[in-house]
Amino acid sequence: MIVEIINTGSELMLGSVLNTHQQWLCRKLADLGYVVDRQVAVPDTGSAIQQAVREALSRADLIITTGGLGPTSDDLTRQRIAELLGRTLKEDSAVLAQIERFFSVRNRPMPERTKVQALVPDGAIVLPNAHGTAPGLAIEVLPSLLRRSDRPAILILLPGPPRELHPMFLDQVVPLLRARLPLETPFLCRVVRTAGLGESMVEERIGGPLQPLLERGLELGYCAKFGEVDVRLAARGADAEAAVLEAERIVRPLLGRHVFGMDDDDLEGVVIRLLTERRMTVAIAESCTGGFISHCLTNVPGASAVFLGGAVTYSNAAKQAFLGVKPETLEADGAVSESSAREMAEGVRQRHQSDLGLAVTGIAGPGGGTSEKPVGTVFIALASPERTVALRCLNPYDRATFKFITSRQALDLLRRTVLGS
Ligand code: ATP
Ligand code: MG
Repeated sequence: MIVEIINTGSELMLGSVLNTHQQWLCRKLADLGYVVDRQVAVPDTGSAIQQAVREALSRADLIITTGGLGPTSDDLTRQRIAELLGRTLKEDSAVLAQIERFFSVRNRPMPERTKVQALVPDGAIVLPNAHGTAPGLAIEVLPSLLRRSDRPAILILLPGPPRELHPMFLDQVVPLLRARLPLETPFLCRVVRTAGLGESMVEERIGGPLQPLLERGLELGYCAKFGEVDVRLAARGADAEAAVLEAERIVRPLLGRHVFGMDDDDLEGVVIRLLTERRMTVAIAESCTGGFISHCLTNVPGASAVFLGGAVTYSNAAKQAFLGVKPETLEADGAVSESSAREMAEGVRQRHQSDLGLAVTGIAGPGGGTSEKPVGTVFIALASPERTVALRCLNPYDRATFKFITSRQALDLLRRTVLGS
């Protein structure tokens, strides 16, 4: 099966929007066993879109386009693809009613141009949009002059905004693919998500023990991200499930407490879930991360049950006033020190009466480093009823990356403390 993606949008060509659909769709499709063979990005012009689709139809069995389904004059995907396929566009009354409802519940007048989004090419399946007005479309293209193959192709048109595209893909495209374009052989993929180990360390631990399964066709992949490494275990064929489950059984104990979840789990979600299950609360004192750890935690639905609050204490005065860090400690060891981190964690825990207090203090750079405490030095402390533990890490990166990696280390310390591991 040949799979191709066409991302449309002049903003992609101008570099003003990062093409995250390329990564997101490739990843989701690969996890389902539909590995993408080719991907192109084209500007919004009708001719570029038509040419890309015409070329893809000559090769691919599954083609997914993104963007250009909206109501503005640069949204041409629906019209130009219908034109290319020789399909007439008809207003679909159910889609129109859904668009009208979208505006009426928001108490907003419906612009006349919005109606173009209710136009559906002859024979297309409508993929309703729960988060916007433009529905997606799925079109079967039968063998023809355009599709020189003995098999039909499926062409799927998805809207540009990620918050519309993601749920539409997961809720509607995935079942449609399974029903209309089943894989020739069974496929299973599981991603083991780890934190706190480098990529080569992960490989060193699991590469050898997985060798017999690799020889029997297991696909093994590593994806290193900031502070995290994903291990992708996949297999095809009748034994796919057995092989992947066996691999997971081998990998998990070898990576031990570094495994924080599977597939789409993220650290913040896992931390909130663990705290909720154990009925524990946390408060956070942040210096160099400027509130980023609290931001990550509060992205998770249900965070309010376990995250009580915290403070961004950037100055020494704020560390004293809001957390009770002792002036002597700041004087003797400096704000970026294990002792200050410990007092910050204990102070925030005590002031919020939480079970746990997490604190970070460090030097994000580019200035401020010394030979003893170079740029990137960060102390992370976690206070619990029994004890306070502290870590010293070195994250010498740009400020945004520094914040992100530090947040992973802090959340992972929190996770392991909650688990007692
Ligand atoms: P709308 O109804 O919002 O106009 P649309 O289906 O017409 O939706 P576009 O106009 O192509 O989609 O894109 C809308 C917005 O979605 C873009 O401004 C951009 O922020 C985002 N977007 C589009 N394509 C991508 C992409 N490939 N990766 C990430 N974001 C994208
Ligand atoms: Mg648009």
